[in-house]
Amino acid sequence: MISSMPTLHDAYTARARIRSLIRKTPLLDAAVLARKTGARGVVFKPECLQNTGSFKIRGAANKILSLGDAEKKTGVITFSTGNHGKAVAHVAHTLGIPAVVCLSEHVAPYRAERIQALGAEVVRWGRSQDDAEAHYHEMKAARGLIPVVPFDDPIIIAGQATIALEIVADLPEIQVLLVPLSGGGLLAGMALAAKAINPAIHVVGISLKRSPAMLESLKAGRPVAVEEKDSIADSLLGGIGTTNRYTLPLVEKYVDEHLLVSEDEIKDGMFSVFETHRLIIEGAAAVTVGALLHQKIDVRKKMVGVLLSGSSIDSKAYLSIIQGGLDGEERKKSDLEAPRPVRKGIP
Ligand SMILES: *Cc1c(COP(=O)(O)O)cnc(C)c1O
Repeated sequence: MISSMPTLHDAYTARARIRSLIRKTPLLDAAVLARKTGARGVVFKPECLQNTGSFKIRGAANKILSLGDAEKKTGVITFSTGNHGKAVAHVAHTLGIPAVVCLSEHVAPYRAERIQALGAEVVRWGRSQDDAEAHYHEMKAARGLIPVVPFDDPIIIAGQATIALEIVADLPEIQVLLVPLSGGGLLAGMALAAKAINPAIHVVGISLKRSPAMLESLKAGRPVAVEEKDSIADSLLGGIGTTNRYTLPLVEKYVDEHLLVSEDEIKDGMFSVFETHRLIIEGAAAVTVGALLHQKIDVRKKMVGVLLSGSSIDSKAYLSIIQGGLDGEERKKSDLEAPRPVRKGIP
């Protein structure tokens, strides 16, 4: 199996292949966060500004562009919590390839609508990401469609690895990378590319306290299913797949450290990025900032790269989180301004 693992060379190949479908996102200076954490510098890599609203288009484009003509004609199928589905729908539509996206009923309606609007056939099935995946397997067999899985595929992983190539090219002195972790395509790809270029880069994966599927699997030494709960970071829900072949061993091999964040810490991350950069990020993207704000890692004197992985969030949910953040600021201010109780002197 080792010979089919993705490599740095695959990442460079991906970069050339997907160039016309993606944007090279900039690095943004996060000076306030650097000051708060004592870091030498913090930069955001805002994949929330990427085409289709998340980095997922990198892997999806790399995979679909690498298919043969006959496969492209047949059409592709996938399952998703939203962003991968959007990316597949958009790339397939752009290239004139039919696409089917299986979503569980748990995936928010606005995401299903967006995927449909991008020209894919959306199939709703079951209550969890695992249910949607089971249905995907049935439809794939029944209709002979070509699979474009969300993370456990060397070509998808090589696509996500292009993010690390861009960061290191723009800022060779980068020392720490903070990356959200769910199925692990993103983290595995970025870690393998970063380490191949500079083994001293400290690569950190950040999982949901609520459903850390990859961490449980690393502990067990095999893929472990976790119960799917609701989370503000809904793009991080779902397991790593019972037949995982790539992301589990790659994360095990290349990732230096793992952190867990709570729902409130994620909300703090979203609010902070809105306040400092006026950028809208989804919960899954905010795990990195939440971890830094709550000092889960010591980055003093380090040059830190923080991935903001996507922007896909329901407007109402987003506004209520920002309002919650503003209310919290107000409370803090009024606590500071509250008149001190005056002690009456004893005569
Ligand atoms: C998919 C996704 C992730 C996690 O990527 P994995 O490859 O599943 O680990 C993180 N953030 C966003 C916005 C995503 O869509």
